[in-house]
This record gives sequence, C-alpha cells and structure tokens, in this order.
Amino acid sequence: MYGRLGAFCKTVCVDKYYLFGKSFYLRRQKLLLTKVTISDMFAPPLPHPGRLYSAPNRFPGRESGQSNVVNRVSCGDLRECHIGLEVELCGRVQYQRVGRFLTLRDQYGMTQVIAPDDRPDIGRRLANMPLDSFVAVRGWVYPRPPGQHNVRMPTGSVEVIIKEFRMVRPGKKSAFDNVSKSKFKKNADASKSLPTHNRLTSEEFAKCESPSVTSRFARRTHTCGDLNENTIGQDVHLCGWVELKRLGRFLTLRDGYGVAQLVAPNNRPDISQQISSIRLDTIVTVKGLVCARPPGQKNVRMPTGAIEVSVTELEVVDPNEKIEPALPEPTTNISMQIRSFSTSSNIFSEETKPTKVAPDTSKFTHRTHTCGELRDCHIGLKVRLCGWIEYQRMAKFVTLRDAYGSTQLVAPVERKDIVQLLDGIPFESVVTVSGIVCGRPPAQENVNMPTGSIEVVLNDFMIISTAKKQLPFTIRDFNKAKEPLRLKYRYLDLRFPEMQHNLRLRSKVLMSMREYLCNHCDFVEVETPTLFRRTPGGAQEFVVPTRLPSHFYSLVQSPQQFKQLLMIGAIDRYFQVARCYRDEGAQSDRQPEFTQLDIELSFSDREGIISLVESLLEHCWPEENENKVCAPFPRMTYAEAMDQYGTDKPDTRFEMKLKDVTDAVKLSDLPEMVMPDFTARVVVVPKGSVQLTPTVENKYEDLTKKQFPSTRLILSKVTSIEHWEENLQKEFSSDVVTALKEKLNPEPFDVIMLAFGSKEQVLKLLGRLRLDYVNYLESKGVNHHRTSHYNFLWVLDFPLFFPGEKPGTYETAHHPFTHPHPDDVHILQEDPLQVRSLHYDLVLNGCEVGGGSVRIHDPVLQLQVLKDILQIDPSSLQHLLDALHSGCPPHAGIALGIDRLIALLCHSNSIRDVIAFPKTLEGRDLMSGAPIPISEEEKALYHIQTVDSAPMEQDTHNVSEVSTP
Ligand code: ASP
Repeated sequence: MYGRLGAFCKTVCVDKYYLFGKSFYLRRQKLLLTKVTISDMFAPPLPHPGRLYSAPNRFPGRESGQSNVVNRVSCGDLRECHIGLEVELCGRVQYQRVGRFLTLRDQYGMTQVIAPDDRPDIGRRLANMPLDSFVAVRGWVYPRPPGQHNVRMPTGSVEVIIKEFRMVRPGKKSAFDNVSKSKFKKNADASKSLPTHNRLTSEEFAKCESPSVTSRFARRTHTCGDLNENTIGQDVHLCGWVELKRLGRFLTLRDGYGVAQLVAPNNRPDISQQISSIRLDTIVTVKGLVCARPPGQKNVRMPTGAIEVSVTELEVVDPNEKIEPALPEPTTNISMQIRSFSTSSNIFSEETKPTKVAPDTSKFTHRTHTCGELRDCHIGLKVRLCGWIEYQRMAKFVTLRDAYGSTQLVAPVERKDIVQLLDGIPFESVVTVSGIVCGRPPAQENVNMPTGSIEVVLNDFMIISTAKKQLPFTIRDFNKAKEPLRLKYRYLDLRFPEMQHNLRLRSKVLMSMREYLCNHCDFVEVETPTLFRRTPGGAQEFVVPTRLPSHFYSLVQSPQQFKQLLMIGAIDRYFQVARCYRDEGAQSDRQPEFTQLDIELSFSDREGIISLVESLLEHCWPEENENKVCAPFPRMTYAEAMDQYGTDKPDTRFEMKLKDVTDAVKLSDLPEMVMPDFTARVVVVPKGSVQLTPTVENKYEDLTKKQFPSTRLILSKVTSIEHWEENLQKEFSSDVVTALKEKLNPEPFDVIMLAFGSKEQVLKLLGRLRLDYVNYLESKGVNHHRTSHYNFLWVLDFPLFFPGEKPGTYETAHHPFTHPHPDDVHILQEDPLQVRSLHYDLVLNGCEVGGGSVRIHDPVLQLQVLKDILQIDPSSLQHLLDALHSGCPPHAGIALGIDRLIALLCHSNSIRDVIAFPKTLEGRDLMSGAPIPISEEEKALYHIQTVDSAPMEQDTHNVSEVSTP
C-alpha cells in the first residue's frame, strides 16, 4: 500500500512530499476513515486526469531541480484536477476549526488549509491564528478524505496541506469570535486602514535590526499611544524600547506612537530584577495589565499619564531569534517565476476557469508594486518600486510617481549613501528603489494621497536615468503650461494624471467594445487599406504622391467602400477600429486623422443597427461613470431637430427650444416677408438678462450680419414687462408686440432672442445662439440650465441631398451609398431635395458621436444616384458597381467617433485631450514640426513641382497656433 501511495505521489510529481503524504493519509485513515482504501485515491472523480497527469513537463521547475516554481492561485481556484500541485495562496482567515483547519477567503472563494501532522510548529501557529488575519501559505493540494467533502464549497473536495507560512498579518479578532459573512466583508474593507498596532512606523522600523525584531512589533496587541483610561483592565502585549528606568521598578517604554509607564508588581521580584539589569534603548516585548495609576501619581503631561502597565512578562528581543521565513526578496523576475493559473496555465478545464482575471500590473516588470498601490495592509512588506522623482525634500523624503500614483520614500539618516544620491537629484529622473513599507508616524498621514498612510523606508536606491535640471515644464497643476508647450513636449505632458486617466479609459472602452462585438456578437475585426483611390462625393481627401508620374493615392476618409465590399464578400459582421483622414481645415473638434469604430452588418436594417449600438454602449460604458447609459435612446427626425433646436445635433440637456412666432411677426409689414421661406423664431433664455452685456450683444449682431445675412436678430432683456414692451414697439407695431407677449409669456430677467428672415438661416442662427449663450452663462457661473446627464439621441430621416453650389445640382448629405427612404424613392428623379434618406446620426449632449445608414445594395439604384442625380462619373466607382452586380446582401452600418465619445466620457472640452499625439487646429505636429518641406530629390522622385516655395521649418513655439474650442 505504501508503495502505491509513493507511486501516486511520484505520478503527481510530489517526490518531496512522498513520506509526508503517506503519513498524512495514514493518520487520517486512523482517525476518521477506517474504511478508506488506497484505491479510493485513484478513483476520485478527477474531471481531467489526463491533463494533470500526462503532461510531464507541466512542472518544469521540478524536472530541472528548481523547487521554487509554484502556482499562485486564488482561494476559489482549486478542484480535484489540481491534486498534487504545489500552490501558493493567500487570503483572510474566515474560520478556524479544532485548532487544525483554517478557511482562507479571497474575492474568488474559499479554500480549506490544514496543518500536517509532522509539523507541530505549523499546527500551533494555525491554532492561534486570529480570525481575519491575512495569511499567505504554500502547500500541496490534497483530496479531502471521502465523507469530508463540502458540497457547498466549490473547492470542497480538496484542501491544501501547509508546507510553510509565507506571510501572516494578524487580524484583531480572537480565533473564537464568530464572524458572519457581512461582518467579514466589512473587515476586509477595513484592512485598508489597519489599527495602529499593526502598523510599523519608520521610527520603529529604524530600530529593527532584523526581521525577528520586526515580527515582534507585528505581534503586539496595542501601541503605547493606544493606552488610556478606556483600556484599563485589558491585557496588552506591547513592543518598544526602554527610554527610562526608575527605582528598579518603573520603566518607560517608547514605541513609534508614544510612551507608557510599566511597573513591576510587588509580588514579582523577578521582573524588578529584569528591569534593573536592562539597558536603555533595548527592544523588549511586554505582556501586562493596564491599571489606573494610584491617586496623586498621574502625569498630566503624558497622554498615557493616567495609566500604567503592570508587567506579567518582560522579554528582551533577541535580534537573532529564528522566525518563520518571510516572503522572498523581490527579484527581477519573481512574478515570472510564480506562474499564475489564470493566465499561463492550461490545467483549468473550461468549467473551472476563473471568470475574472485580476490584472497584475507589476507582472513581467522589475517592480513588485506600483506607486499607487501600497496601503496599510502592506506594512512590513519588502517592496521594489520604479518611477519618476516627483518631489524631493531635505535629501530625506522623496515622492516617487508612476502611472498609478505616488508613494513617499524615506531615506534612513544612517544611509549616507542614499542621502548623497538624493541631494540635488533632478525632478523627473527615473529611479528603482527597494525598501520596507512602514506606517507613517502619527499625525503625518496624508489623507489627500491614496498611499498617504504609509511610506517606504529605503534600503536600496538606484538612479536609472537622470533628467535635465530644467525641463520645459513641471508635472504640476499649479501654473500649468499652456497647450502649445504641452503639445511640443507631449511625452512630458502624458505624465499628468489626467492624460494617464484619459488614455487608459480610452483603451478600456475600446477593449470592451471589441469584447462585446467579438465575444458577444461574433463580429470579425478586419483591417482595410488606408492608401486608396479618391472617392467622389465625400469629404476632401489627402493625396499621397507615388512614383508613377501624375498618379496619386488618396488617404481613406473612412473604410466605407471596403466595408460594403466585405459584405459582398460574405464577411457579414464586420468592425474595425479604423484610422480615417479628412482634409477639412481647422475645426475645433476635428483632427485631420481620427479614429472611428466602424461597423457593418449584412441582412440588417436601421432598427438592427440602432439596437446593436445601444447594447454596445450599455456594455462598454465605464462602470465608474456615475451616469449610466439608458437604452432605448430617444429619437427625433432631422426636421424636428432643426425646427425645435436649430441644429441636427441638439443638446437636449436643456429646454429653450425655438418657438415659432411667424404669425405674430407677420402682423406687421416687413420687407423681409417677401422671402418665400420667411419665418420668425424666438429663443427665451430664462433668467439670463443680467449677463447680456453690450459686448455680447455686439458679438451676436456681428455674427448675424456676417454669417446669416438673410436674417434680422433682435435681442431684448425683460427688466420689466412694460419696459420690454416699450422697447419692442420701436421695432414692431403694438399688434405684433401684444401677439408676441401672448405667445412668449415673458418673465422679468428673461432674454428674448428674436430672429426673422430666411427659414434656413433663422433656424441655424438661433440654434447657434441657444447653445452659445448657455455656454457663456455657465462660464459665468450661472449653471442651472443644463443637467449633467449623458443625453443620447438618434436623429433620423435626414435629407438625402442638399442643393449643390451650382443651381440645379445636388450634393449628397453624407455619402453617395446611402439608401433613400423607401417612402420617397418614387420622387427621387423629380424632386431629389424632398427625398429623405435612411441615414441616422447618434448625438450625445449636442455632439455627433456616430452616423451611418442603410446602404444601396441595388446596382441600378446606385447607378441612378451617382450618374443621374449627383452627376458623378460612374467609372470612378466601377469596382463597387461591379461588386453590387455580383450578389449583394442588404446591409447597413455605422461609425462611432471614438475621439469625441471618449472626450465626453472624460468631461474634456477638446478631443486633443484624449489623443496621445494630436495635431493643432492647423494640422501641425508641434513636437516634430510636421508637415515639413521635402527636398528637391524627393520632389523629383515623386514627380512633384511646387508652385510656392514653402517656408522652411516654422517656429513651433507659436502659441497662437492652438486655440481651445
Ligand atoms: N462611413 C461613414 C462615415 O465615416 C459612416 C457610415 O456610413 O458607416 O461617416
């Protein structure tokens, strides 16, 4: 039988464990399982025995003789198929049973760990383990004896036999406290802020000559600073150094939190003896009872002056005392040695694979933690951090920053070598450091810093890359550099926390979009060319010269043609995070190159795309965003949007809709009224009159004259109704004024914006002023007009064509592949301007964040639109027409503007804030100076002759180049 047990242990590569495994089983058999036979061990329901046992080099460390290769697992991971593996797991102690079993818990579940028979040291430790302690153990996965399976626990068929404790951070509850689930959760959260006795301060750390001394501090129940009248009657366990001795009986003990008086009881001459012989500054641990000081002996100048500790046990700490091994020194590849089940191991069956992988930000790096990660629960841990020097004070304190946050480092005074390195080190230099995490001394915690309760006491400091003394700007919000300078040194600018946040959020959202499309909806991501031929009837494209004389590529304005060709090619569910290029000149929320999430779907229609996009946005909306996405989104036709808001992308977070007052104004006799599309509209701005200064009025009047010449604008403030009427009578007859008053019902302090003239211009002008005035009011602190929600809106039924520049010509409203609205196809030839399209736009808070359409899949209709209406030479799109003739499914699609969407999610005014390396409004890259002139040789190569010689490298410091929107 022993032989078979041994064979079993060998099969599962636990040669070291061979004897131990045997004895364990025998004991269990004796005590609990008289009926168990060895064959039970071979017949447990191992779901995937082949995977575990037949892959001999699953344990490369064992074969090569290295023994420190273990699998790090979570408490919810283990199943029978892992039996025999050496694992490391950590969690909080949830239960302790008969002094031998512990249940460890983490966010993924619970695992039972048990002490082996032949390790009484582990057994003792386990028996005394307070609940809620944070424990890391190494051990082997073993089957639970038959009959001992816990069917309510996913890990209930196995347990981990402890080989060694890797780390123990004692919890404050006694092992016999009953911890309910909800209490457990509360305590787990509270671990972020440990009670003081668990927090080693840097002063204490400086006294710790060896890990054994550190571990004594870690085992105290109170600090000297904790003691007061409320603790009278409590048994305490203190650790500190001797500051003073008196009368051979009294001892003043100091730790990082304060001082306490100790006293030897009258009946304990042994303790008096110890006190007499002890040297000052010696580290001791003390057990005793907190007592009130006798009357008249209170010391009011001492915070603990009302009490003293009557000593029952006093022990001088031996720095050479042997303690449980601590966690290994962090090495450069420690995280690579410890293989993680969740990512690199294939031993999990499909059912047991953890659903959520906890990201390990320090994996594959030289650091053990990031600069934003350390908290109280890491106190006592040796860590290695890498980052940039954010700040340095007195050649002693350093703030180290990386992408995740900042951590305070402290150089111990005696480490002259480190102090010397710190002295004068330029900010933004890159360093690698290692040290011990300590609690900050009392009252030195920084509540504004997530890591503000700890600091890292340095024992190693290495400068990796020294920064220049005078960088163009510092990474501080105070006096922040202007945008042109930030763009020129974008790599520095990226170090600001907001840029870090924005780019990381962008990556997260894109990831989750991909995840939804690929994993939930089976879309295929296809990359399409960016060098293509000119597409007629769309935006202005960038041309790219070639070596063929007079032949040019165009950079795609979008993958529109390719995605339609993919539908014809039976790639029926396509998407792409696509880079697009448009040469459209300076516009505040556009870049010459930008990113779209481009989607196309066969055998679908408008409703299909709308619900796809709504579900996609619900899925990818960042969890941390306080405003959730709520589908279905409201819808509005283009005609309604223009009529009520004066724009095809209305900001629906505030009312102030355009009111039609044509009938009222028509009561007078105005020269404008001869216009065929005469209209009069009003926007009422409630309580907005105080801010309507003559400067603003002049600006709006100017705008009207220059850009909306076929309209008249009358701005009026309602100081009192009578006054407003009087003023208006200077412009209109009293009939008109009375009619307007009835229609508008104005209130004191309102602003009335009245415009009349050509309908197209009146709507656009008032749409512009409605938005501009609310922005202006908000900039003045008048904030009550707009809610903070994310208001999505679908705008439907756009016109298919707009009038072209020449009379009788037409331009497509979007692109020439948009399908006409089926109800209007019959008037396509006779009255193209009345034809609506199957185009749809997605609008968010007044910004167009997406647009798409049902496409023309009938080659005859496509030819008619191109040739007869748009007068585009069909030969330029012959490839597409041919493809449509080859069997084309009905299809529809959309493109979401990623830059704008993310800017809105980041509450950013400019899309440049969510693009790593953006261009200025004029399309310049201030960092490299692009675009730049090319040499005569290059011109010759590409057969280019330039008309004007361009100025050589322009001044890239030109601040006026960037104007914020
Ligand atoms: N290609 C279009 C655009 O970029 C979007 C679409 O119709 O799918 O606006």
